[in-house]
Amino acid sequence: MYDIAIIGGGVIGCSIARELSKYKIKTIVIEKDSDVSCGATKANSGIVHGGYDAKHGTKKGYFSHRGNILFDQLNEELNFGFEKIGSLVLAFDNEEIKTLSKIIENGKKNNVENLKIIDREKLLEIEPNIGEAIGALYCKEAGIVSPYEYCIALAENAISNNVEFKFNSNVENIEKTNDIYTIKTNLGEINSKIVINAAGVNSDVVSNMINEEYFHIIPRKGEYLVYAKGYGDKVKHVVFQCPNEKGKGVLVTPTYHNNLMVGPDAQIMDDKYDTSTNIENLFEIIEKAEKSIPNLENKKIIRNFAGTRATSSLHDFIIEETKSKNFINVAGIESPGITSSPAIAQYVRELVENIIELPKNEKFNPNRKPNIIKKSEDDMLPMKVVNELINLDENDPERIVCRCEQVRQKDILEALNRGIKITSTDGIKRRTRAGMGICQGKFCEPRVKKIIAKRYNMKEEDITTRGIGSGSEPNRVEIMKLRKK
Ligand SMILES: Cc1cc2nc3c(=O)[nH]c(=O)nc-3n(C[C@H](O)[C@H](O)[C@H](O)COP(=O)(O)OP(=O)(O)OC[C@H]3O[C@@H](n4cnc5c(N)ncnc54)[C@H](O)[C@@H]3O)c2cc1C
Repeated sequence: MYDIAIIGGGVIGCSIARELSKYKIKTIVIEKDSDVSCGATKANSGIVHGGYDAKHGTKKGYFSHRGNILFDQLNEELNFGFEKIGSLVLAFDNEEIKTLSKIIENGKKNNVENLKIIDREKLLEIEPNIGEAIGALYCKEAGIVSPYEYCIALAENAISNNVEFKFNSNVENIEKTNDIYTIKTNLGEINSKIVINAAGVNSDVVSNMINEEYFHIIPRKGEYLVYAKGYGDKVKHVVFQCPNEKGKGVLVTPTYHNNLMVGPDAQIMDDKYDTSTNIENLFEIIEKAEKSIPNLENKKIIRNFAGTRATSSLHDFIIEETKSKNFINVAGIESPGITSSPAIAQYVRELVENIIELPKNEKFNPNRKPNIIKKSEDDMLPMKVVNELINLDENDPERIVCRCEQVRQKDILEALNRGIKITSTDGIKRRTRAGMGICQGKFCEPRVKKIIAKRYNMKEEDITTRGIGSGSEPNRVEIMKLRKK
């Protein structure tokens, strides 16, 4: 019997799990995929927002700034990689400058300080590749994070503080008898006193297993393009566009590992698991992005992908105990869910405290050592050396497995020994960057499969790219078609 069962191993489930691991209670995370971070958490902009634009008076407005201010300390403890590079919201005419003033007013109400409008001269000084913008809202508190590394770090730390994770376990039904919940999964039943529903786009379905329907999720897909490592230098800040009657525009940003990323658009979907991409949409995104940063080089595109926002029909985050007592919904967590996650976790802990006692876990260790050390261009070895290291003996820890990102055998073995059994090459990719480079895993994927299979004494054909439960590979636009234009 568990005190708490959390359904969903995305950033919300893992933040809550890590927060609750500070207490001496029995907690389990139940995840239908074979790893954490397989839903929206792996496919988004990775921005820790300043918290100025989420409407004041909403839960998004309440949690986003509160989440933002917790990131520095979290990163010190968990080493997932976070950098406060600041953000700009560009204005292209005087009407948009007026909108920026309204955004500042909203930000102030959300307690965001140090917001200011800068003119074109200042803008060009701090962001030299900018287009025709006449000014911008500058927020120095915004940052970039690798969202899956953040989620993995939370899960690993929760595991080392005694939270259990059960993977490949799809919650199919929930029953309640004598105040105890029985969660029925494809791998058997789990009993718990409290249930926390953090099932992302599926959170309406999970809520309806025990409550009368009171909201539904509207899946909204967003597509992205990723450019080669190093091209992130094209911009120094997260560059947004001012929302206007045509929409919110798209962003251009360096990623934490210095790729350039542009996107997303917003498409309401019938199929919540459709993360395919489309060439017309991607070209439209590039066109919009070039309004902010002209002359993006298509030949540097290395990947395109899509993620789906779990927009709730109540138009805000839903974070509350439901009519079914001791069942907490943390649903409809669309953007800025990554940003808000640490503050949401603290609030959910308060909700739990109203239900059961939370004695302190005196052995709680807040720290986790990093998995990936960020490499700058200067840290990269010359190709001649790389070619030698590629050919080292298969068991040599110094052998380079991924040529593009220069990932070594020892880095992959380390990732396989951190508490989560990883049986997909994507799982290794998110933990080591093997497969994140220009060739997108064509060279290293077979090598990675071999290492995983050997580690767990499994057959190589049982190691998949995406893991069991993630469905088939989404239909993505061929990179060469994007590079040609
Ligand atoms: C296009 C896009 C851009 C975004 N940009 C940003 C940004 O820049 N900054 C920001 O702060 N936020 C951003 N977000 C929002 C952020 O990504 C989400 O708020 C966050 O990832 C939600 O996390 P989650 O844990 O609720 O959902 P998920 O990550 O989707 O996790 C839910 C988990 O529940 C599991 N699950 C579902 N049903 C079941 C079941 N029946 N049984 C067991 N497990 C189940 C799923 O497999 C999944 O792993 C963006 C989102 C999108 C899509």
